[in-house]
Amino acid sequence: MANLIVTGGAGFIGANFVHRWRKVEPGDGIVVLDALTYAGNRANLDGLDGVELVEGDICDTDLVSKLIADHQIDTIVHFAAESHVDRSITGPDAFVTTNVVGTHSLLKAAKAAWLDKGTGRPHRFHHVSTDEVYGSLGPDDAAFSETTAYAPNSPYSASKAGSDHLVRAYHHTYGLETTTSNCSNNYGPFQFPEKLIPLFILNALSGRNLPIYGDGMNVRDWLHVEDHCLGIELILKKGRVGEVYNVGGGQELPNIRVVEEICAGVDAAFAADPSLAERFPDAPAAKGQPTASLKTFVEDRKGHDRRYAIDERKIRGELGYEPARDFPQGFAETLRWYLANEGWWQPLLERAKLNAR
Ligand code: NAD
Repeated sequence: MANLIVTGGAGFIGANFVHRWRKVEPGDGIVVLDALTYAGNRANLDGLDGVELVEGDICDTDLVSKLIADHQIDTIVHFAAESHVDRSITGPDAFVTTNVVGTHSLLKAAKAAWLDKGTGRPHRFHHVSTDEVYGSLGPDDAAFSETTAYAPNSPYSASKAGSDHLVRAYHHTYGLETTTSNCSNNYGPFQFPEKLIPLFILNALSGRNLPIYGDGMNVRDWLHVEDHCLGIELILKKGRVGEVYNVGGGQELPNIRVVEEICAGVDAAFAADPSLAERFPDAPAAKGQPTASLKTFVEDRKGHDRRYAIDERKIRGELGYEPARDFPQGFAETLRWYLANEGWWQPLLERAKLNAR
């Protein structure tokens, strides 16, 4: 049995991880530490027993130390971050504060509790990071492996790179038992509708434009969030301390292909279920028009990385990792989830101006 702090557990991936962990390890204690920023949402943890949500900032080292002591924490799974590249371009300060200073605050508290006080108990600090730290690939470049040199290009990826280096240093210098995962683009339930897939699904339902950056040919690897959480579970249970594991979906797609999949999926859903036209009368699909009519090409993101691709042979070979879905299957599940959970996303739309770009 373990006692976990899950930072950022009220956000998209963190919440999916908490749901999964509750199922696979029901005897473990879970404390979610989350500042409930615009991206955090209590509702993401609805229906879960035995999960304590503490509203607080990872930069508050005293709070983290107290939680570790009070709950006899032996495992920290660190998701909390400012995570949206576009926001990092217009306001990078919060990214440095949460992603760099916040990660260091957690590391300091973990070191003090687990090493300086000499409990001698096994412990684990798992850091969740991104493939964006490796920079941008050309069309023929080899995919990112765990030994690819870091070359972050956005304030977001630079702040995540800084946090990765601090985790590495705390292992190397002090012997903190760390693991890190660098993962590709996630999608799935509970994703805040500012990211491409949920934003475009909801725009399609309300007849708003689908704004595609540049020529739409930027390539990403797409991974269903539950497959990412499976990867993290394997790393926590079987991963080697001090190691980094890349996690991907093996689904490299240009953005325009993702948008086409969204348009085709929404059209097919409306064709199969006439009640959708009553629920979402502003959708082109409700009027028999193609959702693709909403596609609009907009000025490219500043410094937009062209291509990311993940070489995941290490996690597959060492830990037996195998994502359960390809993109079409994962996307179909995700579309069904958003159609079935309007009660989850409607309050978020009212809370934020989401279609600013
Ligand atoms: P998210 O933005 O949905 O959630 C982040 C959560 O962190 C929110 O609940 C927010 O309230 C919380 N948070 C932010 N600042 C905090 C602070 N100072 N103290 C405590 N809590 C704070 O992000 P996500 O998409 O779930 O990403 C989770 C992690 O996975 C991040 O570290 C991100 O870099 C990484 N990641 C994300 C993706 C992706 O595609 N979304 C891909 C690879 C890696």
